[in-house]
Amino acid sequence: MENINNNKKIIIANWKMKLSLAETEKLAISFKETLGDINDCEIGVCPNFLSILKVKEILKDTNIKVGAQDTFWENEGSYTGEISPKMLIEAGCEYVLIGHSERRKFLMENYEMIHREVKAVLNLEDLIPVICIGENWDERKTDRRDFVLFDQIQQSLSGINIVGNQQIIIAYEPIWAIGSGTAIEPSEAEYAHKIIKLTLNDMFGMKIVKNNFKIIYGGSITSDNASGFVGLENIDGVLVGGASLLSDEFYKVIKKIVK
Ligand code: PEP
Repeated sequence: MENINNNKKIIIANWKMKLSLAETEKLAISFKETLGDINDCEIGVCPNFLSILKVKEILKDTNIKVGAQDTFWENEGSYTGEISPKMLIEAGCEYVLIGHSERRKFLMENYEMIHREVKAVLNLEDLIPVICIGENWDERKTDRRDFVLFDQIQQSLSGINIVGNQQIIIAYEPIWAIGSGTAIEPSEAEYAHKIIKLTLNDMFGMKIVKNNFKIIYGGSITSDNASGFVGLENIDGVLVGGASLLSDEFYKVIKKIVK
């Protein structure tokens, strides 16, 4: 697995459950044609579970990496309906989203589960967890954002030893901005990323944070607002939902981020 400890921005597409299998295949082919040769940033795409093998096959000779939208915390056993980190690696995944707010909202995922998932993924080394954190509107309105971020990071990562080359991506996704059509102000995202970095520094030390962590922003990124998130010290990339469902629009986002 390529080390993400470079200066390349990370741009991950989350296709959620928005496309049929046929539409997913078509979009993967379009990604290959439009984005396949880009190598001045890291591009990842997270399709639905059923499409991972197909998308991997379509993108095999490109620079685009494949990820999953979730994982279970055990590698095998009697866990009906679940998919393990080991299976994701077998299928060729290099990233996995963990604790996306939609899973926290609709499937009651909590940070105890998220912690287990992170631990299981890091045990295997070949998969990069993209841990999603972020406050909801009520928490923001009542000035609790900083504490919420601190608490979510603590719950996801405390007691976990980061060793060697293990890579971790934190995706800061203010829940109220996801799918809203309006991203937050880049300066506000930069501030939140700073809080995240300071919390990680306290937990793991600056050297590990510099070498092993990246922090990306997610929440209504489009080609119209993406350039505002460029050149900020603590923003290492973006996680993109809606704007990743058309390859031309996603290409424009990438071009705004990587100038
Ligand atoms: C997401 O769900 O991770 C996301 C960033 O979605 P959107 O870009 O559509 O807000």
